[in-house]
Amino acid sequence: MIMAIKNEYLKSVYEELVARAPWETEFHQAVEEVFISLEPIIENHPEYQQAGIMERIVEPERIICFRVPWVDDSGKVRVNRGYRVQFNSAIGPYKGGLRFHPSVNLSVMKFLGFEQIFKNSLTGLPMGGGKGGCDFDPKGKSDAEVMRFCQSFMTELEKHIGADTDVPAGDIGVGAREIGFLYGQYKRLRNEHTGVLTGKKVGAGGSLARTEATGFGLCYFTERVLGSIGESFKGKRVVVSGSGNVATYACCKATELGGKVVAMCDSNGYIVDENGIDYKVIQEIKEVKRDRIKTYVDYVPTAQYFEGCKGIWTVPCDVALPCATQNEVQGDDAEILIKNGLKCICEGANMPCSPEAVHAVQSAGVAFGPAKAANAGGVATSGLEMSQNSMRLSWTFEEVDDRLKKIMDGIFESCQSAAERAGQPGNLLVGANVAGFLKVADAMLWQGIAY
Ligand code: NDP
Repeated sequence: MIMAIKNEYLKSVYEELVARAPWETEFHQAVEEVFISLEPIIENHPEYQQAGIMERIVEPERIICFRVPWVDDSGKVRVNRGYRVQFNSAIGPYKGGLRFHPSVNLSVMKFLGFEQIFKNSLTGLPMGGGKGGCDFDPKGKSDAEVMRFCQSFMTELEKHIGADTDVPAGDIGVGAREIGFLYGQYKRLRNEHTGVLTGKKVGAGGSLARTEATGFGLCYFTERVLGSIGESFKGKRVVVSGSGNVATYACCKATELGGKVVAMCDSNGYIVDENGIDYKVIQEIKEVKRDRIKTYVDYVPTAQYFEGCKGIWTVPCDVALPCATQNEVQGDDAEILIKNGLKCICEGANMPCSPEAVHAVQSAGVAFGPAKAANAGGVATSGLEMSQNSMRLSWTFEEVDDRLKKIMDGIFESCQSAAERAGQPGNLLVGANVAGFLKVADAMLWQGIAY
């Protein structure tokens, strides 16, 4: 049976949150998971309850919701809805990506912003939590349409962000092209070249290794998780879901570390390549051609394509790296993975495993790396991009990659020791939530109840 919140204080905060907006299901899922992990902390620290830390931490400091009108190539006026959730600035300026996808709504924005608070805290860098996006779908749009949309989106967002206030980045549907259009419009409106967005082009304020950072960081973290059970990537069969930014560079690094990535997908279907997927082909299909993953078989005729992305979890593997979207691994998928010999699952996407899936893998003794720790390499490297922008310096690829690896090692170690302190050794989910929370809660206590 899945765990539920037992502590009376946490339960009452959670129930009030659900009663206020029962439809925000993704947000509630993220909050419930964190609250369950924090029970021993709340019981031992009455000062958090006295200062209303939990009531405050689940309420965004500010939510901006705005109209995004733009004109398509046929001259028709289109209107989308944009968001920026400035969730928590206790330890630094708000920081978190922008997602452009038809499924974006306030619940998704709030779940992502809430997760970001703890993730950013875990990196050890001074960054608060935020997230934004729009229900716009860049898929199938021309470059000119994407540009007009981004310019309209930034025309409003510009009023609320800044290098010392709120620094957005990419996420689903927001890659190098979109960041370029957004940055261009910001610069035009403000007449300043600052570190207001991360994921910028290298040579125009961007950091080397930012593109690779989330996928690489995920694999550095996974290698540590595997190490904790006496294993490594060497010789392992790996399944990576998705074929976007995170998935592509996870495939690259997992292969470099000795694993064999046998399956990847997009939202239409999945490919299986028993010889090991070549990430350069995925790069060509996704980043250059903006095409579908089924075309992989045109480049590698020995590979197979299957319709429907859910089937990817039936491909036997030792290591699973879900890198597509929230709740993509359900309880039944986890059961199949376990039956097929899964040893380790680390989350590249945000909240890709449902509570039932997390419960199934943890109960089966499968090593589990939670998203807020495992995929923190992206935002950590965004933090390094902000540092380089402030110093007007550019570090080499090796320098950034080396710092990223050290940050991922540090995150793994702080999750491990927080789990031990919480009386649940080896439970990295509890460790990540506790370690991420304490720093933010103490900063909130220190700053009083002004916000
Ligand atoms: P991209 O847009 O580059 O790629 C997303 C991939 O996931 C695509 O292959 C897409 O397929 C697939 N996908 C999206 N939605 C669904 C769905 N509903 N069902 C099946 N597949 C889907 O995004 P990113 O790689 O940047 O992000 C992936 C995940 O990683 C997200 O959860 C994001 O929040 C998280 N993340 C990203 C970071 C980053 O630095 N980019 C940092 C930390 C976390 P299709 O093309 O068919 O839509």
